[in-house]
Amino acid sequence: MELEQRFGAANYNPLPVVLTRGQGCHVWDENGNKYLDMMGAYSAVSHGHAHPRLLSILNEQANRLSVVSRAFHTDRLGQFLERACEITGQDMALPMNTGAEAVETALKGARRWAYERKQVPTDQAEVIVCEGNFHGRTLAAIAMSSEPEYRENFGPLPSGFRLIPFGDADALDSAITPNTAAFFVEPIQGEGGIVIPPDGYLARCAEICQRENVLLICDEIQTGLGRTGHLLACHHDKVKPDGLLLGKALGGGILPVSLFLARRDVMELFRPGSHGSTFGGSPLAAAVAKTALDVLLDEDLITNSRLMGEYLLDGLKKLSSPVLADTRGRGLFIGMEIDPERISARAFCERLMEQGILTKDTHATVVRLAPPLIIRRQEVDWALTRIERVLRRIEAQ
Ligand SMILES: *Cc1c(COP(=O)(O)O)cnc(C)c1O
Repeated sequence: MELEQRFGAANYNPLPVVLTRGQGCHVWDENGNKYLDMMGAYSAVSHGHAHPRLLSILNEQANRLSVVSRAFHTDRLGQFLERACEITGQDMALPMNTGAEAVETALKGARRWAYERKQVPTDQAEVIVCEGNFHGRTLAAIAMSSEPEYRENFGPLPSGFRLIPFGDADALDSAITPNTAAFFVEPIQGEGGIVIPPDGYLARCAEICQRENVLLICDEIQTGLGRTGHLLACHHDKVKPDGLLLGKALGGGILPVSLFLARRDVMELFRPGSHGSTFGGSPLAAAVAKTALDVLLDEDLITNSRLMGEYLLDGLKKLSSPVLADTRGRGLFIGMEIDPERISARAFCERLMEQGILTKDTHATVVRLAPPLIIRRQEVDWALTRIERVLRRIEAQ
């Protein structure tokens, strides 16, 4: 911790624990203390730590071929992209590494589509985004954000973004102009505090986008791949977006792997030289990510997410503690809204840590519960007893 403090930029404020090992839903610190991981690395660790099938393909592929750049074809990339398109219903995909890069890729794709397919005048394309969004930390992603903390003294920022309230389809309708390229939205806002929009919101947005010839691009970097109890969170509203962003869990909790997937008429506008990534789509990343998709389906982690999520949410509601102002979620994507008069979400997480549960606050008052999707009932039961203990102690103060 001291070395990180001396040599590392302080752009995070981690809990004071030093982790050295992980297995399944659990991690261990340097003193051998065991914790239930209810953070899941912001949903990057959905398959659990050190999943045997993922470790096996990682080793096998690393021994064969890891990185060659996109200057050449490999025997891995095509199969990965095919699988990703197959299960999401998208036509084509472009591989990158981090989520923020997928967001940048989608922005480029949407803008190019606006100019070359919709005849929007040069440099006039607009992208509509939602208040409270999180699309990453690059300059364009923070330019999309409404969060002053993310933007402060990082300007000048890219322009062409228009903010509307999240969950308000009429606001989308009124914000669209002839220059609108796309509407970027998280089906459930993650970093914004696990914010679930009204029922049917995304379906209405999809209707509006289709009518107005605007691309609906769903950022499912956090909500995708089973996290909310469906393969994609947009499936709750039976929506197939025009463009889709995946990341985090796509790398099986091992590597950074992201994708921008979209309709052919958008993706075909990327031509040689127009975009790229040295590591994106490497055979190592492709092999691990394809297997991550296979494991997700073979082990039915999506159903487990739905069942364990319902069970956990139900258990939390039954605790009916005045410390919890609200508990909400879909699948294993749950937010506990803490009454700030009683305790801060950060302090709540420190109490949980003392009880053997690791997670992190988001947006000052919300504690996120997003364990690996492999979690079992007995671990959820254990977590509920520990959470209850923390709640009762705060109530008694
Ligand atoms: C985490 C996240 C990103 C950014 O992903 P990185 O891999 O951290 O760059 C983008 N959008 C959403 C919705 C996210 O949750």
